[in-house]
Formats: sequence, structure tokens, C-alpha cells
Amino acid sequence: MPAYPHLLAPRDLGFTTLPNRIIMGSMHTGLEERPDGFERMATFYAERARGAVGLIVTGGIAPNPEGRIAPGAAVLSRAQPEPRHGLITRAVRDAGGRILMQVLHAGRYAPHAAAVAPSALKAPINAFTPRALSAAQVERTLDEYAECAVLAREHGYDGVEIMGSEGYLITQFLSRRTNHRDDCWGGSFENRMRFALETVRRTRAACGRDFIIMFRASLLDLVEDGSTFAEIVALAQALEDAGANIINSGIGWHEARIPTIAHMVPRGAFTWATQRLKAHVRVPLVASNRINMPAQAEAVLAAGAADLVSMARPFLADAGFVAKTMAGRPQDINTCIACNQGCLDRIFNGEVATCLVNPRACRETELDYRAAARPRRIAIVGGGPAGLACAEIAALRGHAVTLFEAGERLGGQFLLAQAVPGKADYGETVRYFEQRLAGLGVDLRVGRRAIADDLIGVGYDAVVLASGVNPRLPELPGIDHPKVLSYADVLLARRTAGARVAIIGAGGVGFDVAEYLSHAGDAAAGSAAEREAFLSAWGIDRSADSPGGLAGAGPRMRATRELWLLQRSAGRPGAGLNRTTGWAVRLALQLKGVQMWNGVRYERIDDDGLHVQVAGEPRLLAVDNVVVCAGQEPARDLHPALAAAGMTVHLIGGARDAARLDAERAIREAVLLAVSL
Ligand code: NAP
Ligand code: SF4
Repeated sequence: MPAYPHLLAPRDLGFTTLPNRIIMGSMHTGLEERPDGFERMATFYAERARGAVGLIVTGGIAPNPEGRIAPGAAVLSRAQPEPRHGLITRAVRDAGGRILMQVLHAGRYAPHAAAVAPSALKAPINAFTPRALSAAQVERTLDEYAECAVLAREHGYDGVEIMGSEGYLITQFLSRRTNHRDDCWGGSFENRMRFALETVRRTRAACGRDFIIMFRASLLDLVEDGSTFAEIVALAQALEDAGANIINSGIGWHEARIPTIAHMVPRGAFTWATQRLKAHVRVPLVASNRINMPAQAEAVLAAGAADLVSMARPFLADAGFVAKTMAGRPQDINTCIACNQGCLDRIFNGEVATCLVNPRACRETELDYRAAARPRRIAIVGGGPAGLACAEIAALRGHAVTLFEAGERLGGQFLLAQAVPGKADYGETVRYFEQRLAGLGVDLRVGRRAIADDLIGVGYDAVVLASGVNPRLPELPGIDHPKVLSYADVLLARRTAGARVAIIGAGGVGFDVAEYLSHAGDAAAGSAAEREAFLSAWGIDRSADSPGGLAGAGPRMRATRELWLLQRSAGRPGAGLNRTTGWAVRLALQLKGVQMWNGVRYERIDDDGLHVQVAGEPRLLAVDNVVVCAGQEPARDLHPALAAAGMTVHLIGGARDAARLDAERAIREAVLLAVSL
């Protein structure tokens, strides 16, 4: 019996057979708009095709300029034929893969003056108000969808995915929230779904029977006045009749105030939305959102929740995901940790996406891990993310690597992060590196604090100091009081905090600690109880008749402690959190009643608690504990001795710059150094 009998089974679509049930879902990479983007995308997708994924879907391509997801974003039309798509399709085919092009019209989400929509209703996440499409413009837009698909076929794509979820144009026609029309495209649900069905009918008519049409339908809108389950079933059945070969699951509009893919979303939290549709349709259904490891994907299919699974970010993290699954080596997979830092945060900043745990993603043509011309002996001090990533790539390139880690385990700051509710997957990164370094023969000296004598005069050609950071201890009377805890004490459960806690410092670590200390329940990561707790906390209703899947009572969260999250500066606490996840982190803590104060002056800590001044007024926070999350200082004590001995020393990660410490930068620096050694 193979390890993943459902996941690795082929799927016959009638005119073509997918080799397995794993789809690499659509992700905008930012390469679509770069001058050299098509060459780079060809390499990027071909590498994933060689990794044996069953079907790849490109990032969204607009069928006309109005539908662009950003000013200057990619379009495929007769007016803008873009012949370089052939580079992608040839590369994928040569690598033995199949690829669909996603057709995406942003509708009222288009952040530019040309935006159009069923009705002139501004989206809460867009500064631009769209123009309402006239009936003639609706017809023209539909023809442009079909024309775009025809061009995709001419360029060699195996089919298209029509983006009909996440609140984009097709969803805007479907929903009474955004469709206030009174012609044949609005009013009754039959009228509102006409646009979606016509995209499929016209594409099928124009492209023929042997062309894959996957439709991404919104199975859960998570916005007020969203679709009911009856409407979702009616749409799915009509899509099937219209000629769709596969229906993919979309979860949540972009304007929804409920996280759908961020780290706090439990693995597989939304597969029930696909499962409940399963009994009502014949076409293959695809489950998506927070599926990131093969055993979990296998369980989704084995439970009959879906016919295929879609993963997007996991293919940034590891191009070889499927090949490793087929080889029965899931422990070798570099797992996506749903941080969004390397991928979505970058896209929203107008940059090319990459991946925190795999900086080579979307940089395949630049970052070459070829064998080093002259193998060297390299010592790396520190087994946190930076040291581990540097050791991996240096060893991969043929260097003899020795890694010293003072702690009892590899992992550094990720050992703390994995304790934060929703961040258990950070432990997968540690598991990946442990496997990988052992496989590459790195000489691991764990539980051994390196001293200068370990490094000087013993034949190393270079030393990499990846020794991380030391927590900053503010100069404050009473900072040595027994009620003061370090964040490591808290996250590593070395000390238990009381019922009332003040947190000094409202940066990333302060927010993590607040989440840890306020979290209710002890459901295990990955358990059904964890998924249920998430749905209930965020007010998601699984009953069939609630529009948009929202519970009337809204989110229900409670904190297990009384918490104050404090900062000295005047800005909004949490303003520096990551762009695409920070809002949900802040919102959850607000819903739990965590007090967030800015402009705080710390006076002293004593038996009564933490004495502060806020707006010139003295205040006493009568807390049981004060947790210090006041940033970091570089830990690089070895540097002077190594430099004095004339050794080649490289500083990376927090040891180089603790002020802007973040794992994405640390790993990227580590890999860039490793390719240059
Ligand atoms: P940080 O983000 O720089 O925040 C440090 C906090 O401490 C600030 O609120 C700062 O605010 C305060 N502070 C600084 N010096 C202080 C002093 N002398 N006395 C009292 N308060 C002081 O650092 P961090 O929270 O340690 O996070 C480090 C890095 O880890 C971040 O850059 C982040 O990228 C990453 N991280 C991110 C996340 C996330 O986004 N979810 C989670 C964990 C870690 P005031 O100066 O205004 O008081
Ligand atoms: Fe996943 Fe984070 Fe990598 Fe994005 S950056 S693919 S969320 S691990």
C-alpha cells in the first residue's frame, strides 16, 4: 500500500489525466510585470513541474486593462497579446508538467481609475470607486474573458482557471452585496449568476472540449450579504452544466475581516466548506487554504472532503513537495509556515514574491546553489534560522561545515515562535533543517557554546557569526524584581505568569507574548478541536443558511488574563507588524480586551506592580508580572577576538543587526552569504 494512496492517485478528466491530486494554486509572484519576468517565471514553474506537481496555475492575468489587479499589471488580450507566455508553457511541458493560466478581473478591487463593477459601489479596501458596467460593456467583458482563454490556449496552456472568488468581479456579480442592478445581470440569483456562467460557456465554446476549465468558486464569502449555501450549490451545479471541468474552493473575500490563510488559521480549517458541496456536484472539487503537508492533504481526500487539494504557498517553500511525497520522505519537505512575510507582504509592497524559508523562490535564475569552485572549511556559530540556512546552502555547495549551537536544540528564535498559538508550524522549519543538515553531513556541535579557541588556529577558512541576539533589558528601577519575566521565560514555559500582566514593548515579540498569554483553550495544533475553536472565535457559521457564513453574534473571543501591551512611542501599537497578518493579530487582541497603550513612560516596578506615566498622569498597573519584550541587542561577543586573530568573519542575522531582526532577512542574508563562499 503506497503511503498516500488518495493523494498520489491519477485523476482522469475525460480528455486528459492528471498524474496526482495535487494542484499548485494560483499566486501572483510580481514577476508577471517585470521586464525579465517571463524568463524567470518559466524557470520558476518548470522547477515545480519537475517536482511532479499534478497541475500548476499561474498568477492572475486580466482579460482587459480595466480588470488589472494593479496599475500596469499583466493583461492578455488581442490588443496586448504578450507572446512570452510561450516561454512558460514550453518550459513546463518540457519538464513534464501541465499548467493553467488564471483569468482574473479585479472589478471593484482594481486600485485604479479604470475600475469597473456591476454597480458603482466602492470596496472598503480600495480608494477608487468603480464605474458601473453598461449592458453592452458586460457583453464585451464576457467576450474578453473568452478571448483571453483562446489566447492562453494558443500560447500552449492546458486550460484556464476562471477566478470567481475572493470578492473579484465575478463574485461582485454573484452577490447582492455588490450587485444592485435591475437588468438581466442583477436582481434574482438566476440573474446574478448569469455572468459567472457566461464566462464558462463562452470559454468552453471558444476553446473546445479538450481544454481544462477550472472555476474558482467562493464557497464561503465571510462578508455580510454573502452567498447562502443554497446559492453556492445552485452555482456549482450550473457551472458543471456550463462546462467547467473542476471547481476550486475560494474562501473569504479580500474585504472580509476574518483571516483565511494567515498563521492563526488552523491547518485545514475550511475543508468542511468543500466537503458540504461534495454531495451536490459531479465534477472534481478542490480543497484549499492552509493545507501544507502530505499527510494532512491525504486525510482530506480520504475523508471524501474533496477530489484534489490546492496548495500555493507550500510550492514557494519547496518546489519538490510532490517528489518528496512520492519518495515517502515528507520529513524532507520545507514546510510553508503561513507567515506571509516573504510572499504576500512583498506583493502588497509592490515587490517580487519570495519565501521566508526558501529565499530562492522566484529568484531561481539568480540564486544558483552550484558546487563551490574551492571547497572550504566553514565554522558557523549559532543554530537559529540564519545559522541553519547558511549551513544548509554552504554544505550543499560542498563546503565542510561545522555548526556550534549553545542551546540544547537547534532552532533559535523559532523554538520560541513555535510556542505562540497559531505558530506551531515554525517547528516544522526546525525539523526541516535538522533533517537537512544531518543529510548533508554538517558537523553539529549542539549544546556547546563556541569559544575563541574552538575557532582560531584550527583550520577554518571562515567563521560565520550567526549568534543571534540578547533581549534588551530596559534601565528601570525594579527591573530585577521577581515579578519581571523575560519573553523566553514565558514562551518556553519556564515561568508561569499571573492573572494580570503588563508587557513592556509592543513589537512583534510583545504581540506574540500577548497572544500566548491571552489564548483560551488548549486544543492541540492540527486537531479538530482547534479548527472548531477558530471558527467559533471568528464568528464563522457552518449552518447552511447563513449568508456569507457569518454567525449573527459575530466573533466571540475572551482572554484568559488581563493584559496591558505598552510602548513609549506615540504611534499605533502593532503598526510595524507584518502587512497581511498584522491586522488580524491586532484585531484578535482587541476583541479579547487586551489594553494597548502608547506614549507610556515607565517609572518603576515594585511589589505593587508597574508604575507608569501616561499623558503626564501617574498610573499604577497592579499586575502580577511584567514581561519584558523591549527589543534586542546583537550577540557577537566572539567578534573582536576573531577579528584580532585575522580570521575571515561574516556577521549575519541578529548578530549583524538586531534592530531590524526578522527571520526573513536573517535567512536571506544567510543564503546570500552561503552562495558567495
Ligand atoms: P521590536 O519590534 O523592535 O519591538 C521592540 C519594542 O520594545 C517596541 O515596542 C519598543 O517600543 C520597545 N522598546 C525598545 N527599547 C526599549 C527600552 N529601552 N525600554 C522599553 N521599551 C523599549 O522588537 P521585537 O518585538 O523584539 O521583535 C523583533 C523582530 O522580530 C521584529 O523586527 C519583527 O520583525 C520580528 N517579529 C515579528 C513578529 C510578527 O510580526 N508577528 C513576531 C515576532 C517577531 P518603544 O520604543 O516605543 O517603547
Ligand atoms: Fe509560506 Fe511564509 Fe514562505 Fe509565504 S513566505 S510561502 S507564507 S513560508
